[in-house]
Amino acid sequence: MTDPATALAEIHARIARTAEIAGRKPADVTLVAVSKTHPAERIAPLIAAGQRVFGENRVQEAAEKWPALREGNPDIALHLVGQLQSNKAEDAVALFDCIPSLDRPSLVGALGKAMDKTGRRVPCFVQVNIGAEEQKGGCAIADLPALLAEARAAQIPVIGLMCVPPVGIEGAPFFALLDKLARDHGLAGRSMGMSDDFETAIMLGATHIRVGSALFGARG
Ligand SMILES: *Cc1c(COP(=O)(O)O)cnc(C)c1O
Repeated sequence: MTDPATALAEIHARIARTAEIAGRKPADVTLVAVSKTHPAERIAPLIAAGQRVFGENRVQEAAEKWPALREGNPDIALHLVGQLQSNKAEDAVALFDCIPSLDRPSLVGALGKAMDKTGRRVPCFVQVNIGAEEQKGGCAIADLPALLAEARAAQIPVIGLMCVPPVGIEGAPFFALLDKLARDHGLAGRSMGMSDDFETAIMLGATHIRVGSALFGARG
């Protein structure tokens, strides 16, 4: 198994090279290290190596792992990269620093209420079902303007759009489409690109890439 800190240095080199080609600054691309399913012992070396932004997909798992990992590292930011159930909204708002999976009106309601109650206004991305896949989470493109308006009305800070393109086909057209939608709606953030395609996503404007297996190895 590759040591995560070595893998981290390699990913940073690839981000820097790709950003340079694209005429962008490497610092404009945030690497979200997706640590879901990986134990604290695999995560700690990355923190020691300077990584500060991490992604988890389950509220419960994050609540168990992260309080200890965060000790002494108050600048760590946790992103919730998975589907969020409305009944976990309050826990999510308390624990996470960014929620990139806002995708439906019921969740706008639950998150808005949780943010009002806790006074923590956690930045969110609206997840778009960019390939119009039936089984996939994310807001339909046609519903995006209404969902953004609802989020604004609920005083949820939406900082960008997020997508997971269909598997098995070239992601570039979907990244380009997400970039266009973000531009149309005046949103700065684009969370797109994972282990297999983050360089393509950076070329097409990703501001946040979510990388798991390329850092930690395959999930068990
Ligand atoms: C697991 C996950 C990732 C990381 O995927 P890798 O292919 O391991 O890099 C990124 N985004 C989301 C939404 C995920 O669920």
